[in-house]
Amino acid sequence: MADPIDIARLLRWGSSQLEAVSPSPGLDAEILLARVLKTDRSHLRAWPEKTPDTLQQREFEVLVQRRAGGTPIAYLTGEKEFWSLALRVSPDTLVPRPETEKLVETALALLDTQATLRIADLGTGSGAIALALASECPQWQIIATDKHPDALRVARNNATRLSLQHLDFRQGDWLQALTGENELDAIISNPPYVAADDPHLQTLKQEPSHALVAGTDGLDAIREIITRSNGHLRTQGWLLLEHGADQGPAVRELMESARYHVVHTIRDDAGLERITAGRCSSSQGAHT
Ligand code: GLN
Repeated sequence: MADPIDIARLLRWGSSQLEAVSPSPGLDAEILLARVLKTDRSHLRAWPEKTPDTLQQREFEVLVQRRAGGTPIAYLTGEKEFWSLALRVSPDTLVPRPETEKLVETALALLDTQATLRIADLGTGSGAIALALASECPQWQIIATDKHPDALRVARNNATRLSLQHLDFRQGDWLQALTGENELDAIISNPPYVAADDPHLQTLKQEPSHALVAGTDGLDAIREIITRSNGHLRTQGWLLLEHGADQGPAVRELMESARYHVVHTIRDDAGLERITAGRCSSSQGAHT
């Protein structure tokens, strides 16, 4: 790019570079330039004729190039908004998706938001689900687990930064992190659910594959959570899982064979089957 060059031109350039990779190239360019100029997007709209200095221009170009290479915008800004919380994210965690807000919404609809419930969020990643629930229901005791210490660190830092209380972070693989817990009111999870050969993974290369991929049919983690959760739930406790749009029938069948009842699926805002919930019919004592 030749300089001097104003904000409007920088944004046009950025947007044109991102057309092929991003569904929202104009917005992405604005977010990145606002980040570089340490301002917000409305400022860019108000002052399109201002000329950032060459260092800032260069910084913007580098960010646009990384975005054009497929890096999610949230990894470039280090932040993602989820349920009105500004969460820090890193390449150690999945970028929280809008459809996961449906899981939070479902939990709030099915559970008693005023009671002192004890619940777990398995594979918490950046902490999105646990922290959203903690912000809505400060009296709930929430155990947030992750197998990966680096992810758990991100989640713990988010809780501290947002001053959210009553959270207990535990490292461990799925139900192993809940050893000793056998009377939980709910277990909630957005586990990995993409099949190993899903071509969609090509577009998600920068995110941790262990947070996305779960075996040949994408159901490995879901199967493990369903078959082992009833040992950690109280009778009538809820299991709530996010899953792939075509996995509704399989997840309902798995829950029914594991003797969950009131099994039902909720669609996301795109109208796709996304969340399946079921109630534990009898507690079988804690598995380890
Ligand atoms: N919904 C995500 C995607 O397909 C996958 C998230 C997950 O595996 N939990 O982009």
